[in-house]
Amino acid sequence: MVDILKEVLKDLPKDADIEDACFEGANIVLYTKSKDFFLRENGIIREIVDKIKKRIELRPSPSICLKEEDAEAAIRKIIPEEAGELNVIFDPQRSIVIIESEKPGLAIGKSGEVLREVKRNTLWVPIVRRIPTIKSNIIEKIRTVLYENNDYRKKFLDKVGHRIYDGWIREKKNEWVRISILGAGRQVGRSCFLLQTPESRVLLDAGIDVAAQEEKDAFPQLDAPEFDINELDAIIVSHSHTDHIGFVPYLYKMGYRGPCYMTQPARDIGSLLCLDYISVAAKDNKKSIYSSTDIKEMVKHSITLNYEEVTDITPDIRVTFYNAGHVLGSCLVHLHVGNGLHNLLYTGDLNYENSNLLAAAITRFPRLETLMIEATHAARDDNPPTRRDSELELIKVIKETMARKGKVLMPVLGVGRSQEIMVILEKSIRSGELEEIPIYVQGIVWDITAIHTTYPDFFYAPIRKLIFHKDQNPFLHPCFKRIASQKEMKQVLDSGPCVILATSGMMTAGSSVEYWKELCEDEKNSLVFTCYQGPGSLGRRILNGEKEIQLPAEDKTYKMNMQLHALAGFSGHSSRQQLLNFMKRLDPKPKKVIVMHGEPSNCLELASTIHKLFRVETLSPKNLDVVRIN
Ligand code: ZN
Repeated sequence: MVDILKEVLKDLPKDADIEDACFEGANIVLYTKSKDFFLRENGIIREIVDKIKKRIELRPSPSICLKEEDAEAAIRKIIPEEAGELNVIFDPQRSIVIIESEKPGLAIGKSGEVLREVKRNTLWVPIVRRIPTIKSNIIEKIRTVLYENNDYRKKFLDKVGHRIYDGWIREKKNEWVRISILGAGRQVGRSCFLLQTPESRVLLDAGIDVAAQEEKDAFPQLDAPEFDINELDAIIVSHSHTDHIGFVPYLYKMGYRGPCYMTQPARDIGSLLCLDYISVAAKDNKKSIYSSTDIKEMVKHSITLNYEEVTDITPDIRVTFYNAGHVLGSCLVHLHVGNGLHNLLYTGDLNYENSNLLAAAITRFPRLETLMIEATHAARDDNPPTRRDSELELIKVIKETMARKGKVLMPVLGVGRSQEIMVILEKSIRSGELEEIPIYVQGIVWDITAIHTTYPDFFYAPIRKLIFHKDQNPFLHPCFKRIASQKEMKQVLDSGPCVILATSGMMTAGSSVEYWKELCEDEKNSLVFTCYQGPGSLGRRILNGEKEIQLPAEDKTYKMNMQLHALAGFSGHSSRQQLLNFMKRLDPKPKKVIVMHGEPSNCLELASTIHKLFRVETLSPKNLDVVRIN
């Protein structure tokens, strides 16, 4: 038996009657055959947790759990009816019962009293999950994948624990930490970084650059000699955008079977975007590099973490996620390497500003020596209007377009920007600032919004308050109408003035392009960009002022007559000034700053400015560069 388990067991009293001790990732799980000890362990577990600084969970042995039918009947009796619809799902291997509820707060009870009652009466460990307020197929599918693979998950999580606690597998000689840039070095897209220590190999993000002209430029450079998929210990995903998660299923296709750490919203939205990547490829008559089976493997091997939950992932790396303010469930990844040797913060994409939907990124960390920061909007001349100004501008554009009986097409990123805009439009309609017009939400944007309704705890406090205390969920407003089929899309085009939210945001593919083809020649209509337009994308061509546009593989020339507006204030990324404010507020200050995820001039510029203002070493490495950080 592993030393740490021996240590835990030696401190337990004889009557604890422990039948089994195993791992679930970095957590230690004990199964007791004693009903009495399970219900009244009197703080002994707490004491051991304080001593060894690892999470320990006490569960009943499956042999003492109440029969499933009886337990379900008891649960339905104990949980008040006001909690709404209930699904009760058993995970008998782990003595866990999952209770899906429309109102989790009521199923949990004041300081958990309802759940304690469930525990006492059934001898199962109850876990409560929210049923999305808007039905979400993807969440149902993901939960099914997890429930169906309970047995596999139990073994997998124990294996992950052994990797963390069994001791070093490589020889401990020198101490060093290095990062290989496998993607997003002086570019936006295909984020991928390999973090290596003498013991560990960890991948930070694995994304696809969907705007890349050639396939070889679209994927991370796994041909770097130091990358070996068989040696990989863990993947960490900062958030659900395709340029950060899109390549992960491919790694599972190539045989990787280790853990993928992310937040729950990142897992759910990310899976949906990977599925979308497959269907967009199919529509373009391209072969996707992976199938839905590989996405399923990613889900099966996911380990979700909450913000500020500290977790060991290898013998010498401990990870903590912090809110990044960028999209739902996005995180700044803090890595504590070797016992106090080095602390690295990888920002992924960050927004250092409160938006309607999310709070600004966190700036305080226990320790910090190296910062890896994004530079998407770091250009010196990138001085976007404020969010409020852009909000007013958007409402003005919509009113003017309505007045001339036109339609407003908004190509949006399915995640984040669309929900932010939905919140703004709902607010304006509710306050009477905007008349109630139909707002058509194209398929995938709707599906992602449904996922948002599953995780209101990740929202910014004011909107959380609206939902929980005033029962006013902006996403449920009747002005929003879902468009899923070609037939419905045609009806929208034939109908009167309206707003259309459609992906992709850069018009590289998808329904935003389909709508644009139908709407572009009529000057009554408006096209409103709210996000970054990558080089080579149709969005960038339009933004550059092209008036007669030919699309690849089409003979027709499209005349761009509709009114064009680009509103920069809604960005999910920090502006240059916000990046510098983030630097200024960072506590503690890093000694080294690596700038990535920006066009070359932006990366160089931000690196040079940070060096001058904060007197720290800065670099902006290219793809395939390796940086030693300790
Ligand atoms: Zn992003």
